[in-house]
Amino acid sequence: MNHKLISTPTRTAAIMKKYDIKMKKSLGQNFLVEPQILDKMIHAAEIDDTTTVIEIGPGIGALTEVLALNAKRVLGFEIDQRFIEILKDTLSPYDNVQVIHQDILDVDFGGDELAWLHQEERLVVVANLPYYITTPIIMNLMKSRLPFERLTMMMQKEVAERMTAEVGTKQYSSLTIAIQNYMESNIAMIVPKTVFIPRPNVDSAVLNLTKREQPLVEVDSPDAFEELVQTAFTQRRKTLWNNLRNAKNSWVEEYTDEQLQLALETAEIEGSRRGETLTIDEYAKLYRSLKND
Ligand code: SAM
Repeated sequence: MNHKLISTPTRTAAIMKKYDIKMKKSLGQNFLVEPQILDKMIHAAEIDDTTTVIEIGPGIGALTEVLALNAKRVLGFEIDQRFIEILKDTLSPYDNVQVIHQDILDVDFGGDELAWLHQEERLVVVANLPYYITTPIIMNLMKSRLPFERLTMMMQKEVAERMTAEVGTKQYSSLTIAIQNYMESNIAMIVPKTVFIPRPNVDSAVLNLTKREQPLVEVDSPDAFEELVQTAFTQRRKTLWNNLRNAKNSWVEEYTDEQLQLALETAEIEGSRRGETLTIDEYAKLYRSLKND
């Protein structure tokens, strides 16, 4: 390469000056200015020249460029119109990149325009996420029928810890269960605030989520299962029994005390336990007992 990578602090500063960019905090705009971190992300996602990558939020192209250099093809979705023009300039040396101006939460991965993604040899999603929508982005991707193998994503460290938490810990939550049912998760690295411009208020982590061949538990309605787990965690300090009895905005609220008692007995789970002590298998047992399945 005869020019400096976009992710070097000097080049990023030059691009920001040239285009007079003011970052929008509301859109989670923090640019990575440490090429080594990007190399590690490429490694964590196992990107090679057979890999097609979907990137969320290319910004001015720091990560996109390194993806373009290593992957077969890159498709980015960026919500901020200002960056679309800038990316045409910064990514002009690369002919394997396409950036679409769209909110990632509005993308229809089942539509005709993106049907080609379903034919790719190996598909992964890589992003330095806008932190304000980390969970909806991951949930949407998991619910889409996109045949990705892995999500490799920079996110708030605390959220990565919740997604990888062990049962019985403070971080274990309904989010942990929602993720772990479908994905194997591991934290690839912890990332300090200092590698971003501007610096975020929180530390970050790169999380690898690799799709399981089969979910850990199969249930007739994943949405209803999720609702039950959320109900059990409504008030963390209360017992399972209390949270189930006081369920609101959930199908569980239709159950009488007797029905709840019977379901707990059938599932062999003590109502005096707290939600955070139940494994995903125990939640599945409780779900099936409640549904008489
Ligand atoms: N990829 C760049 C990097 O690593 O330096 C920028 C990452 S920055 C943390 C997040 C990016 O996501 C910003 O460019 C922001 O404009 C974009 N973004 C925020 N909300 C988005 C959304 N709903 N859909 C698509 N992109 C979004």
